[in-house]
Order: sequence, then C-alpha cells, then structure tokens
Amino acid sequence: MSKLRFAAGLIAGRLALNTFKLLGKDYQTDRLGYLPVKICPDFATHVARPKAAIAITGTNGKTSLTNLISDILKQCGNTVSCNNWGGNYMGGQSWAFLNSVNVFNKSQVDYIVMETDEGDSAITYPVTKPDYILINNIARDSIFKNPNPDFIMSRLRKAMEGTPESTLILNADDPVSCFLKTNKKNIYFGIADLGNGTPEYLINDFRVCPNCGGTIKYLYKNYGNIGKVVCPDCGLKSPEADYLGVEVANNHICIKEPDGSINRYPTISGDIYNAYNIVEAVALFRTLSIPADKIAEAIGKVKLPSIREERYQGKEIEVVNRSLKNSNGTAATVQFESLSKLKDDMAVILMLDEVTGNNRVEAITWMYDSDYELLNCDHIKQIIIGGERCLDHKLRCLLGGVDKNKISTCKMAVDTFDYLKLEGIKKVYILYDIYNTERSHAVFEKIRERID
Ligand SMILES: [Zn+2]
Repeated sequence: MSKLRFAAGLIAGRLALNTFKLLGKDYQTDRLGYLPVKICPDFATHVARPKAAIAITGTNGKTSLTNLISDILKQCGNTVSCNNWGGNYMGGQSWAFLNSVNVFNKSQVDYIVMETDEGDSAITYPVTKPDYILINNIARDSIFKNPNPDFIMSRLRKAMEGTPESTLILNADDPVSCFLKTNKKNIYFGIADLGNGTPEYLINDFRVCPNCGGTIKYLYKNYGNIGKVVCPDCGLKSPEADYLGVEVANNHICIKEPDGSINRYPTISGDIYNAYNIVEAVALFRTLSIPADKIAEAIGKVKLPSIREERYQGKEIEVVNRSLKNSNGTAATVQFESLSKLKDDMAVILMLDEVTGNNRVEAITWMYDSDYELLNCDHIKQIIIGGERCLDHKLRCLLGGVDKNKISTCKMAVDTFDYLKLEGIKKVYILYDIYNTERSHAVFEKIRERID
C-alpha cells in the first residue's frame, strides 16, 4: 500500500511541479512540496537518494549557511536540489526531495540541501532521514517562534531517535547543542580562542551543568555565548573540534583538520559568525571528500545572499544593509557586539520592528534580552531609529547608557535617511528586521546615491 501511495504522490507531485515550470509560475514553493505528502505522509523516506541529503538547522544563520553550502557545491560542479527560499518546514523539505528525482524515482541531482526548522525537527527528520545534520547553534529565539532552547533541544533529541543513522556536524563552541548524539560519530567544528575574554551578556542559556547542576564556567567566548565551557564540579566540558579555525583574519581563515594539516580558505565577510559558517561548511565538504583547494576556490566565488546583507563602498563612506532575525535578543546582541568591535566612526540606523502578521510590533520583551549597552561606544556617533516602536528602542538605548544627543527617532522607517549626518563618518550600518527588507533597501539606495 505504501508503495502505491508513494507512486501516486510522486506522479501527482512531479506533474504539478513540471506544469508550474512549463507555465513559468514560481515553482519554488512549499505548496508543491505538501502535495505528495498529502497522498503519502512519509514521501521523502521513499525518494531515491543522491550522494547525500544534507539538513541545516539552528537558531541563527541557517538560511545564510544553506545558501552558502548549496552555492559552494554548485561551484564545485555538483547539481543540487535546495529549498533555499526559506521553506524550512515539511513542505519545503519535501519539495527538495520531489525536485531531486524524475517521475520514475531516479535521482537527478548530486545532493539534496535543506534548510530545516529546529522546532519541527522531531516531525520532519524521522521522515527525511538526512545523511548529515548540521546545527549552527541553538539559542533563545523570538517569543513567537522557538523561544525556549531547552524545549527546542528536547525536540532535537526526539528527532535524533527517529533518524539514528544521521551524522551530526555540531558546533563544539555552542554548549546548548554540542552534546547532542546519534548512533554515528559526531563531527565537531569550532574556532580557537580569539582573545575576547568572557564578557557577560543578558542572555546566557547555559548557566547550569546538565550533568550535576554545578555552575558552568566559560573559558572563552568568541562572540555572544559561543565559546568553550567547563563544569568545575563534574568535569563536563565542550568537545574538541575536529575542524578548528586556528587563524581568523578579515579575508581568510586557516582551518586545522583531524590529521593536523592546516588549509587556508577565503571568508565571505569579516564577521566572526560568518567565519563559523565557513568552518562548518568546510567540515561538511571535507567529510564528503571534496579537496580543500577546490573548496577554497569555490568559496572565493560565492557571496552572502543579498536578502541578508548588501554593501556598497562609496568614495569615503561604506554603507552596509544587514538583516537581523526578528524580535530575537540573541541575534540583536551578536550584531550590536559586532558593531562595538569596529573602529571606524559610524552612524547606525535601526529598523527592528517586525511589522507583518498579527501586529507583532506589539512585542518588545526581546529588547530587554538584547544588550543595547554595546551601542554605547565612542565610535558610534549617531543612532537613528525608525518604526512604530522607535521610542521603546530609544528608552532601551538610554537605559544602556547611550548619550541622548546621539539618538534620533521617527515612526516611518524610510524617514531615517532624513536624519543621517555623514560629516566625519566612515561607515553607515542599517540593521533591519527581515520583514523590513524593502524599506531598508530604499534607505540603502538613497545613502548610496548620496555618498557616491
Ligand atoms: Zn557538572
């Protein structure tokens, strides 16, 4: 019966997919992925496997990493089926499988690459049974999404019971997710101590040892709460990284392999969290036996997806337009920390109100999970806040010690441009909620014209 259901699901799905393609309709949609699932609930389980099915999950950075991995595999000459529009629930994942085979269930691609939702993993992984599961990090998320890391970890542990033969590629420097297990040997990636010390942030979701209840001690933090931990009472400690970033510069990173050899790779931005993405991707590709020089060449040709970040260097001023995961204290702190470490005098534009769906703009609790204190530094000369909640952000900045004379506010995000003062400024950073893409892009374009 299940064979018949699968055949019916496959035929219906492929027919619909091919029709969408023929008619020039947008065929990259969850809708088409749900069609075969309605007929055969475990559709993906029966789809013929390519060389590997790769699942990417985690709280922050999974869309960027999914695009990066898919793009690098393509640059290395592979064909890939990927739900890279952010369709990370069952529909999008099932689409990646449907798109990977023909109507006779013959695989037509080298790899399936899927962005996957961490909260839904206990439902999807037992069906998709990925060969590799990559987890960036698990952190406190928006209260509308996956807010409690303990709960998300319980879902991931349940997911692993349903796919015990998957190989996990884990961030050795994320204490929340690094202790996850399957029947296979884990592969760990990480970055050596970069000398930032152990700054305390408002959010720290790994304070208590899960083994003995002792107080966890950080040995170092490379950004946010990403670093090495140890429990002084029972000896629990972060695993050693098989793939370790040993030298991180603005434009390259050197990664030590399990056999001790070190290879150099380009980076896609100077930001530390993107350096982690490169180490994570390299850990996967080297495990897939892709030569290091080929990976390095491919990384040199890929870019961050423009929906996540765009940059423009004018004659004297650089403008950066960067998305920030909505209503998420962890993501905000990481971005504020990143700006605080830059040296150039800069103006910062914040468009952080989530403006779509059920009036979510009402939610401001996340602001008190975010370290606005990091914006209180000499080189940040101006902070312009645009959006319905501009006064709440201003209050949070003031509580964080930011000089009130540096702050401007306006209710319309696009009006932030009118307040921008460029004298003596080397950089302008726009940080925007992912649902403010059009508004922030409009401001980015206006600044671009002005600094040319
Ligand atoms: Zn302990």
